[in-house]
Amino acid sequence: MVQALETVPAFYEDAYRTELMVWVDGFAEDERFGPALVFSETLCHPHGGGQKGDRATLELPAEDARALGAGAALSIVDTRRAGGRLLHVLGAALDPAAAEEVLVGSKPYLLKLDWEFRYRQMRLHSAAHLLHCFVEQVLARAVNFPETSDLQPEYGLNRYEQKELLTHEEMAAVLERLNAFTAEGHAITTYPDDDKPGFRYWQCADWVIPCGGTHLANTREIGPVKADLSLKRGRTGMTFRVTGP
Ligand SMILES: [Zn+2]
Repeated sequence: MVQALETVPAFYEDAYRTELMVWVDGFAEDERFGPALVFSETLCHPHGGGQKGDRATLELPAEDARALGAGAALSIVDTRRAGGRLLHVLGAALDPAAAEEVLVGSKPYLLKLDWEFRYRQMRLHSAAHLLHCFVEQVLARAVNFPETSDLQPEYGLNRYEQKELLTHEEMAAVLERLNAFTAEGHAITTYPDDDKPGFRYWQCADWVIPCGGTHLANTREIGPVKADLSLKRGRTGMTFRVTGP
């Protein structure tokens, strides 16, 4: 059971939106993640499903910056889910009393997403799904989803529990088909599950994958994908990168 989000996830409505006025609902000193802000609504997708938590800045009017002893903007270095709340993890500590007094419920603030970071995550994330789809197509059979599908800022890793799932020749065929397909410019859509709150799906052509991540609108934006196949230690690993602008 996925707990319903108390923070409105504006990134599902429009994954390309980079700025939003948000109200600060609370300040938390989280045991695991450190000082963090909770907003009523957010553009920041949390860490999860392989995707890294979004980064952003919260712009401060001069008088608020002075009262907090902070700069012109608060730096958000990660976004994490804690129960139904999304924690916007701050890069620097704040005095809790001052944070409560100045920020919480006082007025809306401008949240600016780190778009360069997020867009690469979206490109890598869409590439991760399509890699799997073309592995199935080249092998001409259903394959369990990767046991790990992890995105770093600059690359992704799909790791399957099956040993030697495919050969280097088959991997070359996967990449060739994948890159030809993405260049054709196919639409990518995401939609919620009407029966299961909190569940979402990714769809491209006839492929549907359960996923609550943020995605591109079109495969052309992924750009050419390069990948290295590793068949070591009883696993099949694919480290992949997106290239181009
Ligand atoms: Zn996804």
